[in-house]
Amino acid sequence: MFALYDTLTREVKPLAMREKGKLGIYLCGPTVYGPPHLGHGRATIVYDILRRYLEWRGIEVRLVSNITDIDDKIIERANREGRPWRDITHKCESVWFDAMERLGVRQPTDIPHATEYVQQMVAMISTLVERGAAYATSDGVYLSVESVPDYGALAHQSLDDMLAGGGDREVLGAGEKRHPADFALWKFSKPGEPSWPSPWGDGRPGWHSECVVMSLELLGDGFDLHCGGADLRFPHHENERAQSVALGRSFARHWMHNGFVVDAEGEKMSKSLGNVTNLLDLLDHYDARAYRMLLLQTHYRSPVKVGQDNIDASVKALAGLDAFAARSANLNGTADDVILVRFVELMDNDLDTPNAMAHIFDTVRRANTAIDSGDAAAAGLVAAVHEMCGAVGLALGAVVAVDGDAQAKAAALDAARAAKDFAKADALRNELQGAGWIVETTKAGTTLRRA
Ligand SMILES: [Zn+2]
Repeated sequence: MFALYDTLTREVKPLAMREKGKLGIYLCGPTVYGPPHLGHGRATIVYDILRRYLEWRGIEVRLVSNITDIDDKIIERANREGRPWRDITHKCESVWFDAMERLGVRQPTDIPHATEYVQQMVAMISTLVERGAAYATSDGVYLSVESVPDYGALAHQSLDDMLAGGGDREVLGAGEKRHPADFALWKFSKPGEPSWPSPWGDGRPGWHSECVVMSLELLGDGFDLHCGGADLRFPHHENERAQSVALGRSFARHWMHNGFVVDAEGEKMSKSLGNVTNLLDLLDHYDARAYRMLLLQTHYRSPVKVGQDNIDASVKALAGLDAFAARSANLNGTADDVILVRFVELMDNDLDTPNAMAHIFDTVRRANTAIDSGDAAAAGLVAAVHEMCGAVGLALGAVVAVDGDAQAKAAALDAARAAKDFAKADALRNELQGAGWIVETTKAGTTLRRA
């Protein structure tokens, strides 16, 4: 039975699925106004591991992950650069999915865009106003948190605690709000800003209203799992949940949050710390699998330090696995069942990937010994290593000869990149991928390997 820590109840409990064998997940996606950072990379990899593992276990997973393509930050950047806001969102979204592909993160099954659901958001806000849970001010429509009996359940803080603490900027508020923690469901637009009609005036939806509408719309009431980074727990997820409570609708049955990416001093990394936090830089400098390896060796709820030391260690660990895959490439067998049962036991316990990885490395050691001594058990151990790595999305590169045609295309790809002809580079990359190659382009050039 797959058990997971639930942020709401603060206990590890079985993931009770609404429909047997089927899991509906909502993952808060990016606001597309800048390059993805390491925190985005962590969240998408953690939930990619979860999804792949559960699919490997035979569960049908529907993963809905949105694109927030209307937001204050997008409008600010558009104004600052004098560009159409859609220009920014389209460009950033394509950069996002490129980065995800390089990370080996599979596309969500559904990718709703906030701007496609504005009508439904207006309808939901109208219902909240009718139910007396929301009210209009001179700058928008707000949810009254005092109309939500258990507001603060996810943050594990009462409204009184929040006020007494007084630290969170989201809790401090405009004078017209009935309570400092009330939050905007709808924001009136200024002249020249993107806007949609509403009964209260032209404007745009608040971020918290976008996700609650898209998740309920696509996954339905009482869907299985809502997840995201720990920084989304409050106020974003609290406020999504508050709206569903105020609507009288049942929301996510289970909440999952992954830990922060921290710098060497243990501080949460912010986007302002320079290029180290940029996911694209990491992808340009290292084997794209290194970040996944590092995250697999860290429990998803713990903070992770991303530094030269542990990235180097991950690259080395990958080299060991690749070398193992190469030396054992001619051994075919059925995966050793005892090994897989232990792996499942570990993964089922709140996605304990650090111990699951230790189990994989231990199996590699045993398999190497078996190969050395000509033991017939080697093939089963080798197959088990491949099964387990596949289940967590770790592609092992058995070293195979790269043919001349592929070699020439890789060289042409590098030349196209150097000439900044990205359309041609993309076309060559697609051709190579179509021929079954895993294509990794770093500053050192393009390398090809087989999955
Ligand atoms: Zn969200």
